[in-house]
Amino acid sequence: MRRFPSFVFLTAALALTAAAFAQLDLSQVELKSQKVADGIYMLSGAGGNVGVSAGDDGVVLIDDEYAPLTDKLVAALSAISDRPVRFVLNTHWHDDHTGGNENLGKKGTLIVAHDNVRKQMSVDHFLAVFNAEVKAAPEAALPVVTFNDAVTFHLNGQEIHAFHVAAAHTDGDSVVHFVKSNVVHTGDVYFNGLYPFIDTAVGGNVDGMIAAAEKVLALADGETRIIPGHGPVSGKTELAAYVEMLSGVRDAVAALVAAGKTREEAVAAKPTASLYSAL
Ligand SMILES: [Zn+2]
Repeated sequence: MRRFPSFVFLTAALALTAAAFAQLDLSQVELKSQKVADGIYMLSGAGGNVGVSAGDDGVVLIDDEYAPLTDKLVAALSAISDRPVRFVLNTHWHDDHTGGNENLGKKGTLIVAHDNVRKQMSVDHFLAVFNAEVKAAPEAALPVVTFNDAVTFHLNGQEIHAFHVAAAHTDGDSVVHFVKSNVVHTGDVYFNGLYPFIDTAVGGNVDGMIAAAEKVLALADGETRIIPGHGPVSGKTELAAYVEMLSGVRDAVAALVAAGKTREEAVAAKPTASLYSAL
């Protein structure tokens, strides 16, 4: 099996996902802007990667970072476009992807997401893996347009096609395909170079993660640019390696479960050890 990145990446992934649910000092965070294709950009800071479509019709965002970063987000966007942010599409409910909803919504942006994003944002959560309580979002932060399967924006000369992938990172994930530009924003069904977090408390599931990533692989070719939920911009090759890694971990753990091992015994058996690069 191809070796997946090392402990360094594992540590980074844990810090990053824990950050999603902790009260962080975000004052030092800078948002980096990267052009992905004509009229399409990725902004990366502390939370999930933000996708940007900018053109004559205005700005469409895929996700909107933590709430305290909205001013920096708006500043970064002003370097790309002088047009208003007309829509935000949330790929899922986590606050490192939806934190800017309230601030942008008050400026007139319409928030769009899968039905279950609104549902999960509307209630309190306890995320055991981070030992963190996440309070329900205020009404003003909730998506005002929701869909159950797919939605397409016809703006900026693009078809921006968002489609739901069931029971993956959460129960409300969307993958976003910028059809003409051959760009995909995966949300958190794909962490590039990082081990992912799966929110099993709301129906996330490793099989769904793999199935979702395979759907992206099926619509990608050698030229496709893939914006992951976290990590650097990717191509099809890196995504294929990630699917192989996830499948390998799932199968290794499933074998231990089938052998009747307890959770502690399964962890002690280090089922992912063969994935770690030699350090
Ligand atoms: Zn997430």
